[in-house]
Amino acid sequence: MMPDYHLHTWFSGDSRTDPHEMADRAIGLGMKSICFTDHMDTDSEEPEFILDTDRYIPYMEALREEYADRLDIRIGVEIGMQPHLAGRHYDYVRSYPFDFVIGSLHLVYGKDPYFPEVFEGRQDREVYRAYLESLLDNLKAFKEYQVVGHIDYVVRYGVHKAEQYGYTEYADILDEILRCVIEDGRGIEVNTAGLQKGLGFPNPHYDVIRRYRELGGTIVTAGSDAHEPSGIGHSFRQIEDFLKAAGFRYRAEFKNGVPVFIHL
Ligand SMILES: [Zn+2]
Ligand SMILES: [Zn+2]
Repeated sequence: MMPDYHLHTWFSGDSRTDPHEMADRAIGLGMKSICFTDHMDTDSEEPEFILDTDRYIPYMEALREEYADRLDIRIGVEIGMQPHLAGRHYDYVRSYPFDFVIGSLHLVYGKDPYFPEVFEGRQDREVYRAYLESLLDNLKAFKEYQVVGHIDYVVRYGVHKAEQYGYTEYADILDEILRCVIEDGRGIEVNTAGLQKGLGFPNPHYDVIRRYRELGGTIVTAGSDAHEPSGIGHSFRQIEDFLKAAGFRYRAEFKNGVPVFIHL
């Protein structure tokens, strides 16, 4: 099974999972490698998810040693982007030996769209567009990531979910986002948490992934965004088939931020 490149553990503010349990489950599923990507979200209205990185790195390095003969463990981080934090995040990711950095946006109008009040008094489509515009602003400001996380994350929480969402309606802004990623030599992830939660598609939507390929994008990882072991690798076989059908020949793995391309 493809390696899971988006996993949370008790180092994230919203997970209580022992990293060993994640690793054991991954081995059980036949994965050869995984990458932990705990949250680093600073300066948000919600309780901050500050990664205790000075503890995280040595812990994960020891875990990597412990599992060396069974599973290739990579050490990553999921950064909660905000334009004014770009400089701070730049220094941050360069100060630690991360294999992989996911650049994610968890905020729209300064709040996580997970909270229903974000949609109060607004049409879904208005919130979706505001989110995507903010994502583009962030990607213009911050370049020290390997893949951009769950591109249309906001749709997961819309009042009418995908009713007011589709590639065509947002083609202008989505194309700008994808072109920015490609021009910067970065990639996208296929985040399957939406599939697990009944959204009916991963983030980004299948049509956005196809468009990324069409525009020349080649760097792609798969991530379940699991916060507990049961979620690891969710729908990965389906995603692998989809990627092949969409014209991708390779998926990417990362070591020290450098992609290695593996045949699908
Ligand atoms: Zn995220
Ligand atoms: Zn995540």
